[in-house]
Amino acid sequence: MRCIFCRIESSGSRSVEHILPESLGNSKLVLPKGVVCDKCNNYFAKAVEKPFLEADAVRQMRFHEGLPSKKGRVPSIIGLLDPDVPVQLFRDAKDGSLSAAVPTEHFSRLAARPEGRLLMPMGGALPSGAVLSRFLAKVAAESMAARLIHDAGLLEQFIDDPQLDPLRNHARRGQPMDWSVHVRRIYSSNARTLGADGSWRQVMHESDFLVTPGQEIYFAQAIFGVEFAINIGGPDVDGYLAWLDANNQASPLYAPKNLELYEMPAKP
Ligand SMILES: [Zn+2]
Repeated sequence: MRCIFCRIESSGSRSVEHILPESLGNSKLVLPKGVVCDKCNNYFAKAVEKPFLEADAVRQMRFHEGLPSKKGRVPSIIGLLDPDVPVQLFRDAKDGSLSAAVPTEHFSRLAARPEGRLLMPMGGALPSGAVLSRFLAKVAAESMAARLIHDAGLLEQFIDDPQLDPLRNHARRGQPMDWSVHVRRIYSSNARTLGADGSWRQVMHESDFLVTPGQEIYFAQAIFGVEFAINIGGPDVDGYLAWLDANNQASPLYAPKNLELYEMPAKP
């Protein structure tokens, strides 16, 4: 068995690779041991996933949706007690309850007020540049591998396909060039759907591939309603923009099929 990124022999690798980090609510979408070697797995966690997870908008999303890290902690964010007292906000990973740490110099001012309004930030910056494109390149390559894993011959072809080297290299090193990612919101982060069992469900993440009329392959990944699209074969998204124009700005996740949908119980 060989690693799909560095191609070294990886039969002795011990860790499964989460295609999306566990900190984004992913427990099911994994590649078996050795598909990504331990060394690449560890490197991606530190150099590619962590910077994405720490971006303001992603941290806020993890806080608001109550998504714990692998260590079981929901990241804290900085909020404001109306009008101007900064507080560090914590969310309990188990029951979702909120608590706030108030800087000591503001104690007396707060204690003098009977009540206050808590302002929680929502509009932080999404990851951009190489933080975003390397993360998407990694997720796209691993999602392709997940589709091929049932067939050892196809997986071997995928590992050796030189056409995928730019994507692989971009994920591994941010090289050789800038790589565009198309980003837009396609539904609200807390959109609800009615599940087959009659309970309300919330989509955490979903993904699919799109082959354009120009034979380019795009990978689209939605995370709590934000759709990220990346070209598998090269660094531009011109073909995706043309496809959107020709398809009334529809999402490839919903036109015409949707193969990867992961939900969690909706909060009341
Ligand atoms: Zn490797």
